Amino acid sequence: MSNIVQIAYLIASVLFVLGIKFLGKTKDARRGNMLSAVGMLIAIVATLTTLEIMSFVEMFACMLVGGAIGLYYAKKVEMTQIPEMVALFNGFGGMASLGVALSDHFFKTQVQGVEIDTVNSVSIIASVLIGGVTFTGSVVAWLKLNGKVSGQPITFSGQHLLNLLLLLTFLGVAVMTYLFQIEPIYITILVAIALLVGVLIVIPIGGADMPVVISLLNSYSGMAACATGFILNNNVLIVAGSLVGASGIILTQIMCKAMNRSLMNVLLGGFGQTTSAGAQDGPSIVIKEIGVEESAMLFDSASSVIVVPGYGMAVAQAQHVMRELMEQCEKRNIDFRFAIHPVAGRMPGHMNVLLAEANISYDKLIEMESINDDFANTDIVLVVGANDVVNPAARTNPQSPIYGMPILNADKARTVIVSKRSMGKGYAGIENELFGYPNCLMLFGDAKQTLTKVVGEMKEMS
Ligand code: NAP
Repeated sequence: MSNIVQIAYLIASVLFVLGIKFLGKTKDARRGNMLSAVGMLIAIVATLTTLEIMSFVEMFACMLVGGAIGLYYAKKVEMTQIPEMVALFNGFGGMASLGVALSDHFFKTQVQGVEIDTVNSVSIIASVLIGGVTFTGSVVAWLKLNGKVSGQPITFSGQHLLNLLLLLTFLGVAVMTYLFQIEPIYITILVAIALLVGVLIVIPIGGADMPVVISLLNSYSGMAACATGFILNNNVLIVAGSLVGASGIILTQIMCKAMNRSLMNVLLGGFGQTTSAGAQDGPSIVIKEIGVEESAMLFDSASSVIVVPGYGMAVAQAQHVMRELMEQCEKRNIDFRFAIHPVAGRMPGHMNVLLAEANISYDKLIEMESINDDFANTDIVLVVGANDVVNPAARTNPQSPIYGMPILNADKARTVIVSKRSMGKGYAGIENELFGYPNCLMLFGDAKQTLTKVVGEMKEMS
């Protein structure tokens, strides 16, 4: 039986690895998701069979209930709410690791009265620390993202010193736990410190840095699961935990690079708090507006168009009207492409997923490095609900909080049309000098509503 279970674990692990590989390309992502889900199903069934705590009928009933809850939330959650949902998932992962570590410690020391060996002690302590930090950190991230608490960074003097002292105390108490493992007081102190550190490391982070933190917490939840795998001596948990841990940290790095920030800079927090720096201190921006009809006429006479989608396109759900605009332009032999910034929207790949949902072919979506030189030869750049990713302050204003972040060179195009509702700021909370540039025209209103009207006008023209 044990051999069959280990083979099942091996198959599940291979499916996880293949799943991650397929997730790397948008067109294979669905398949990747499915493979990973099958791998997880195999792992769960194999584990429950070993534990012999329930019959197959009970197992099936539990999976049906769990699956139904998962399906309900998958259908209900809006694309823009995915980061907060991931935050909650990470929190559950951390809580589960913490729970397993505590129950294992309690069972061995209090019920069986056995000595815990070094590997087990280290695994329990790692699970308590990473699981506890992940749990409360993720809950704070979730509360910030869904607006239940302010998304602004909360900072106070001595914050980082306090974190350091808490971690040193944790290490000291961890040694005591190892030496005097029958004393539940030590493990209680460890849990309390881990939970407190989770809150303290996430509260100073806000604004545009939240997705990075969520990705980092995702990585932590993987590491916590990996440590739990060592406690339970469960190979598939070790493999799955390592994969989540490694992929989470790689994604975190990709995001930091796209924002030109170091991970330490993100973790020290406070970004976006002093948003008036630079961009807002200059003369106030004088803008020019454009209407629906004039916009349609501009598109009608263009020979090349690049669309820069951003978070606002997701809010407006304007992806379907983008396909209609593309069809209208292509009917007129206009070269039409989308420029994708790596951190446009609120999660990596956000724009790709939305545009794919509207059946826009992947070869129309061009990454920043490949398209940035083409803006200068483009007639119209349509910025749809994007802001920070086209803010020239990232290039020109060393005082700006986003200075150094690579941006899409939308400002270099002959004409820029910006579709947004107002002069509202983006996630970084700073003004965008592009809106005042001579070649920039503001098309105010909800992106879906205004662009639907533009497409309507174009249909009438043809
Ligand atoms: P953004 O800078 O957040 O700006 C979004 C704009 O959309 C807002 O200025 C808003 O202006 C507009 N908007 C909102 N609802 C709209 C609607 N219904 N119709 C039209 N416009 C609407 O977006 P972004 O340019 O995509 O930049 C992403 C930000 O998130 C960056 O700061 C990035 O660093 C950060 N971030 C992203 C990731 C990621 O993985 N994607 C990770 C880390 C950080 P109005 O209110 O005036 O309409």
